[in-house]
Amino acid sequence: MRREFSRKLRAEIVLRATNRDGFVCCEECGLVLGKKPYEVDHTTPEALVMDKTKPLTADDGKLLGKDCCHTPKTVDDIRRIRKADRQRDRHTGAIVKTARPLPGSKASGWRHRMNGTWERR
Ligand SMILES: [Zn+2]
Repeated sequence: MRREFSRKLRAEIVLRATNRDGFVCCEECGLVLGKKPYEVDHTTPEALVMDKTKPLTADDGKLLGKDCCHTPKTVDDIRRIRKADRQRDRHTGAIVKTARPLPGSKASGWRHRMNGTWERR
Protein backbone atom coordinates (compact mmCIF):
# COMPACT_ATOMS: atom_id res chain seq x y z
CA MET A 1 0.00 0.00 0.00
CA ARG A 2 1.23 3.47 -0.87
CA ARG A 3 2.11 5.55 2.19
CA GLU A 4 1.08 9.19 1.93
CA PHE A 5 2.48 12.06 3.98
CA SER A 6 0.15 13.15 6.74
CA ARG A 7 -0.93 16.78 7.00
CA LYS A 8 1.36 17.15 10.01
CA LEU A 9 4.39 15.74 8.17
CA ARG A 10 3.69 17.90 5.12
CA ALA A 11 3.54 20.97 7.36
CA GLU A 12 6.88 19.98 8.90
CA ILE A 13 8.47 19.62 5.47
CA VAL A 14 7.05 22.91 4.21
CA LEU A 15 8.40 24.61 7.34
CA ARG A 16 11.82 23.05 6.74
CA ALA A 17 11.78 24.35 3.15
CA THR A 18 10.89 27.90 4.18
CA ASN A 19 13.80 30.34 4.14
CA ARG A 20 14.52 33.13 6.63
CA ASP A 21 12.45 35.58 4.60
CA GLY A 22 9.43 33.33 4.85
CA PHE A 23 9.46 32.10 1.24
CA VAL A 24 9.03 28.43 0.35
CA CYS A 25 12.02 27.15 -1.64
CA CYS A 26 12.55 24.02 -3.71
CA GLU A 27 14.72 21.66 -1.63
CA GLU A 28 16.40 20.28 -4.75
CA CYS A 29 17.50 23.33 -6.72
CA GLY A 30 16.88 26.08 -4.16
CA LEU A 31 14.53 28.05 -6.40
CA VAL A 32 12.33 30.46 -4.44
CA LEU A 33 8.83 29.23 -5.21
CA GLY A 34 6.67 31.94 -3.68
CA LYS A 35 3.26 31.29 -5.22
CA LYS A 36 4.50 28.72 -7.77
CA PRO A 37 3.08 25.22 -7.21
CA TYR A 38 5.08 22.77 -5.11
CA GLU A 39 4.64 19.17 -4.01
CA VAL A 40 6.05 16.94 -1.29
CA ASP A 41 7.91 14.18 -3.10
CA HIS A 42 8.73 10.67 -1.85
CA THR A 43 12.55 10.76 -2.09
CA THR A 44 12.54 7.01 -2.73
CA PRO A 45 9.57 6.23 -4.99
CA GLU A 46 6.93 4.36 -2.96
CA ALA A 47 6.71 1.62 -5.58
CA LEU A 48 10.39 0.78 -5.01
CA VAL A 49 10.24 0.69 -1.20
CA MET A 50 10.43 -2.87 0.14
CA ASP A 51 9.48 -2.31 3.80
CA LYS A 52 6.30 -0.29 3.93
CA THR A 53 5.52 -1.15 7.55
CA LYS A 54 7.74 1.70 8.78
CA PRO A 55 5.80 4.95 9.10
CA LEU A 56 7.02 7.83 6.94
CA THR A 57 9.11 10.58 8.51
CA ALA A 58 9.94 14.09 7.34
CA ASP A 59 13.28 12.70 6.06
CA ASP A 60 11.43 10.50 3.54
CA GLY A 61 10.04 13.54 1.77
CA LYS A 62 11.39 16.57 -0.01
CA LEU A 63 9.56 19.69 -1.01
CA LEU A 64 10.04 20.12 -4.75
CA GLY A 65 8.84 22.79 -7.12
CA LYS A 66 6.31 21.21 -9.45
CA ASP A 67 7.83 22.57 -12.67
CA CYS A 68 11.52 22.85 -11.77
CA CYS A 69 12.10 19.44 -10.16
CA HIS A 70 9.06 17.28 -9.34
CA THR A 71 7.68 16.65 -12.84
CA PRO A 72 11.09 15.68 -14.32
CA LYS A 73 11.84 13.45 -11.29
CA THR A 74 8.47 11.73 -11.60
CA VAL A 75 9.16 10.93 -15.27
CA ASP A 76 12.45 9.29 -14.27
CA ASP A 77 10.86 7.50 -11.28
CA ILE A 78 8.17 5.96 -13.51
CA ARG A 79 10.86 4.68 -15.87
CA ARG A 80 12.65 3.02 -12.91
CA ILE A 81 9.41 1.54 -11.54
CA ARG A 82 8.45 0.03 -14.91
CA LYS A 83 11.92 -1.50 -15.28
CA ALA A 84 11.66 -3.05 -11.79
CA ASP A 85 8.21 -4.42 -12.75
CA ARG A 86 9.64 -6.04 -15.91
CA GLN A 87 12.57 -7.57 -14.00
CA ARG A 88 10.21 -8.98 -11.35
CA ASP A 89 7.86 -10.40 -13.98
CA ARG A 90 10.72 -12.05 -15.85
CA HIS A 91 12.10 -13.46 -12.59
CA THR A 92 8.78 -14.86 -11.37
CA GLY A 93 7.94 -16.29 -14.78
CA ALA A 94 4.99 -13.98 -15.37
CA ILE A 95 6.61 -13.10 -18.70
CA VAL A 96 7.26 -16.13 -20.86
CA LYS A 97 9.45 -15.85 -23.95
CA THR A 98 7.37 -15.93 -27.14
CA ALA A 99 7.12 -19.22 -28.99
CA ARG A 100 7.91 -17.52 -32.30
CA PRO A 101 11.10 -15.51 -31.99
CA LEU A 102 11.87 -12.72 -34.43
CA PRO A 103 13.37 -14.34 -37.57
CA GLY A 104 17.11 -13.81 -37.74
CA SER A 105 17.39 -12.91 -34.03
CA LYS A 106 19.61 -14.91 -31.67
CA ALA A 107 16.54 -16.56 -30.16
CA SER A 108 15.51 -17.95 -33.57
CA GLY A 109 18.45 -20.36 -33.57
CA TRP A 110 19.47 -19.32 -37.09
CA ARG A 111 22.50 -17.30 -38.16
CA HIS A 112 22.53 -15.21 -41.37
CA ARG A 113 26.03 -15.34 -42.80
CA MET A 114 27.64 -12.46 -44.69
CA ASN A 115 27.60 -14.54 -47.90
CA GLY A 116 23.79 -14.72 -47.79
CA THR A 117 23.45 -18.29 -46.55
CA TRP A 118 21.69 -19.39 -43.37
CA GLU A 119 22.99 -21.88 -40.87
CA ARG A 120 21.94 -23.34 -37.50
CA ARG A 121 23.59 -21.72 -34.52
ZN1 LIG B 1 13.66 22.67 -8.06
